[in-house]
Amino acid sequence: MSEDETLWVAVVGAGPAGYYTAEALTKANENARVDILEKLPTPYGLIRGGVAPDHQSIKNVSRRYEKTSLQDNVRFLGNLEIGRDLSIAELMELYDAVVIATGAPHDRGLNIPGADKAGVVGSAAFVGWYNSHPDFADLEPDLKVDSVVVIGNGNVAVDVVRVLAKTAEEMAHSDLAPYAANVIHPAPIKDIYMCGRRGPIDAKFTTKELGELGQLTHCSTVARADQLPGEVTGVADKELGAKVKNLNHLKAFVENNPGGKPRTLHMEFYARPVEILGDDRVSGIRLERTTVDAEGHCIGSGEMFDVACQMVVPCIGYRSEEIDGVAFHQDWGLFPNDEGHISDHLYTVGWAKRGPSGTIGTNRTDAIAVSALILAEVTAHGKPGGRGLDALIEARSLNIVRFKDWKKIEAAEEKAALGVAPRVKFAHISDMMDIVNDKNDS
Ligand code: NAP
Repeated sequence: MSEDETLWVAVVGAGPAGYYTAEALTKANENARVDILEKLPTPYGLIRGGVAPDHQSIKNVSRRYEKTSLQDNVRFLGNLEIGRDLSIAELMELYDAVVIATGAPHDRGLNIPGADKAGVVGSAAFVGWYNSHPDFADLEPDLKVDSVVVIGNGNVAVDVVRVLAKTAEEMAHSDLAPYAANVIHPAPIKDIYMCGRRGPIDAKFTTKELGELGQLTHCSTVARADQLPGEVTGVADKELGAKVKNLNHLKAFVENNPGGKPRTLHMEFYARPVEILGDDRVSGIRLERTTVDAEGHCIGSGEMFDVACQMVVPCIGYRSEEIDGVAFHQDWGLFPNDEGHISDHLYTVGWAKRGPSGTIGTNRTDAIAVSALILAEVTAHGKPGGRGLDALIEARSLNIVRFKDWKKIEAAEEKAALGVAPRVKFAHISDMMDIVNDKNDS
């Protein structure tokens, strides 16, 4: 292959969507060379910083991404941030195509009065904190509280209540940040409320995740019989089986005894948040009773009730981060695109493309489709590609983390593992870079 035939693609973001794109492009076109650029020194995005620390088996998919990283035609370049180190315009000069795979790292706003009070901590920040994400490692949420309200009925809400409810023993095989374990496990939390604005059948959590809430050793999960229908109606055939299983789990939770264990998780449906109460700090939340209409929309009834709490964790979805020079849809919190195409030679995949939905595997299907579109629309133009990027990195004296450097960070994290835990993650970039730059450590 001559240099002119090389199709140079830069993928911005080393999460699942970025890795699946690199895999799909290089599988489908032997002339494709992909550089994956990542602002953190570490790869794998949500697998590392989002997936719950006690769901280690989900994290095993990173082995597949490692294989992609080790291909001759793929490179991982960490600690390289678009906007700080180079612009999208510069990247587009260097590569035949650029793919934005930066996910959705920010919390969607809970736009109700009082949402800015101390003690309101969005799930992006809270999950990032307990997962050692450098952006949130210094969050220091105050967990000296007896009551926490978690807003949302998705799998993130389930993750958050489970991490708050599990004991140190239950988390022993996890990679929960030790600084988070040190405050979560001794916290005086007695009550956790998980509030969904619609009903139990409308809830977005999945059956396995809901079922885990019935297996907690230290926490009694309770649901209210008067909020559960006798049977599941009005759902599509393909959803019926899962919804019936969900209802069965919830019916079993009705039998549980609130206060029967040190912590109680209250599943509260038909409850829409309308105001966070308190002075500077949260002292409670006002919720409105709702009903759900035939189209599945939640309708306020006008009936309000308050729940006393000192912490509120909205788990209501995420937004992407804007990138200078790329159009952004403010309401949707993503990059407007047509099946992944943003503009000439500029594409997007994953949550940055379609919003925060689906499982890890959804990003694979998505990446395969966007890669096919790229290969149909873009041809090699003799661009400088990776060599051009290397020259720019050298000219700007950027301290890039290569895949072999990441392996040093990974080895150090595994070496630091406590007991049966798989690793202790570095939470600060400076500590990761110390490992990378340690000339004595080969
Ligand atoms: P999600 O599944 O979309 O759930 C968001 C929840 O927030 C919904 O219950 C939604 O209610 C509620 N909500 C949104 N805006 C609200 C508002 N203003 N006030 C009150 N409630 C509001 O999102 P997610 O939980 O963040 O998860 C994101 C994706 O990651 C999902 O696809 C999820 O399945 C996936 N995930 C998977 C796992 C796993 O497989 N173990 C773990 C974590 C995340 P409505 O339904 O009424 O809109």
